[in-house]
Amino acid sequence: MQEAPKIEPKRFRHFIAGNFVARGPCFDKLSPVDGAKIGEIHEGGAAEVDAAVIAAKQALSGPWGKMSASERALLLQKVAAEITRRFEDFVQAEMADTGQPRSMMEHAFIPRAAENFSMFADLIKNVSAESFMTPTPDGASALNYALRVPKGVIGVICPWNAPLLLMTWKVAPALACGNAVIVKPSEETPGTATLLAEVFAAVGVPNGVYNVVHGRGAGSAGEYLTKHPDVAAITFTGETTTGAAIMRSAADRIRDVSFELGGKNAGLIFADCDFDAAVDGIARATFINCGQVCLGTERLYVERPIFDRFVAALAAKAESLAVGPPGEQATTLGPLISGEHRRKVLSYYDRAVADGAIVVTGGHVPHVRDDLAGGFWVQPTIWTGLPKDSSVLREEIFGPCCHIAPFDSEEEAVERANDTEYGLATTIWTRDLSRAHRLAAKIDVGVAWVNSWFLRDLRTAFGGSKQSGIGREGGVHSLEFYTELRNVCVKL
Ligand code: NDP
Repeated sequence: MQEAPKIEPKRFRHFIAGNFVARGPCFDKLSPVDGAKIGEIHEGGAAEVDAAVIAAKQALSGPWGKMSASERALLLQKVAAEITRRFEDFVQAEMADTGQPRSMMEHAFIPRAAENFSMFADLIKNVSAESFMTPTPDGASALNYALRVPKGVIGVICPWNAPLLLMTWKVAPALACGNAVIVKPSEETPGTATLLAEVFAAVGVPNGVYNVVHGRGAGSAGEYLTKHPDVAAITFTGETTTGAAIMRSAADRIRDVSFELGGKNAGLIFADCDFDAAVDGIARATFINCGQVCLGTERLYVERPIFDRFVAALAAKAESLAVGPPGEQATTLGPLISGEHRRKVLSYYDRAVADGAIVVTGGHVPHVRDDLAGGFWVQPTIWTGLPKDSSVLREEIFGPCCHIAPFDSEEEAVERANDTEYGLATTIWTRDLSRAHRLAAKIDVGVAWVNSWFLRDLRTAFGGSKQSGIGREGGVHSLEFYTELRNVCVKL
């Protein structure tokens, strides 16, 4: 058999002031699919963050700061078009970094990135601000109106689970509003943030508007970014504990933060639901992207009359998933992102057993063919029978797994769903729409889906309550975060 050609690892550099910059020591990026080294990433520190902030400030006081909203919108539409033109490059880069099936890239991650730019480009051209005519004590009047002005330099810190989608969800509105950004992608997913730099350069976005500094967790570029005195606001998506650390370090100065954090989301399935639709919907919500979705369901509550049937049907779905490399058509389940994350997920698989769970399916590392043996695979897993206080039911696992418990009343379902310190999302399956509305109002989350999951209109508010986040982004809510409203009062 002919040996496969050796792939040269890519070298990922920072992008500062319109130039790719190779500074700082390198660390390795491994493929989640087989554990092979596929890249080297330069680690940035205080000097690189400083340089990026200077570049961003120059862009704001230079040509970018002088552009009208319509001119910015035109450029962002060109960014969307260029992402679409280079669709295959983005698909390849994201598949390499995440190892997730090609269909995820083609139908979700990459088109959404282009849509993020075109949606916020459209929105910014049509945004209005308040104005009031106010009587004055001398019998005359004053005109009050609001100017929506950019905040300045925005720090954008992103996770690895949907890298381009989540990053552009923040970069697009920030730029539409006239800010400049410094992006710190996850150490696991440098690829598409780097490609996006090429796109910005190709369509003529001024230098310094979009900067990328790579880093590695705490004590690295991300932390310096959160501490930099000239960074006006931080928008972050990631784990709740990282959010708390960022809040502490950002608090040296007064600045806005927007946090999209972890979840421990509940799915509620009532006996009157469309059974097949519910099983399909929950299978997606639990296993897609190998369970590495903040909005995914790791806790399921099923009304007792259909409990056994539902558990069996979801287990059949889990067992039908086919692990494999992202480019192969048969693949429906990718690997976890890294060896470290797999150790974490497997520790919960062990804990579930120790806490007395019945393992309905999965629970181990699957057997895979030889060329995938070094990858970070885990079996999709379903448990029943855990006590309410098990850490498996309390902590976000972020793997392809869920626990299913029965319930006997609507009140009990609500109580179980709310029995968590997180508040990101829920999905409710019932044909009784009055009940669906009642539950959506009572479950303490940012997003409540009824007979659906992951349907998103980008104009709606997105975010979490409790430990799942601060603030809302999406549509005009993003504009609120990425601008300051200045009141101008003119005596007439
Ligand atoms: P992390 O919190 O580990 O990392 C997120 C980003 O923060 C990475 O770029 C990371 O860098 C960086 N970072 C880590 N430590 C610091 C620090 N001290 N200061 C500044 N930056 C830092 O999250 P994951 O990447 O593991 O992503 C998974 C998490 O994201 C899950 O909890 C998931 O629920 C959540 N998430 C939430 C979403 C939402 O909308 N609510 C959407 C998607 C994911 P590095 O990679 O180098 O460590």
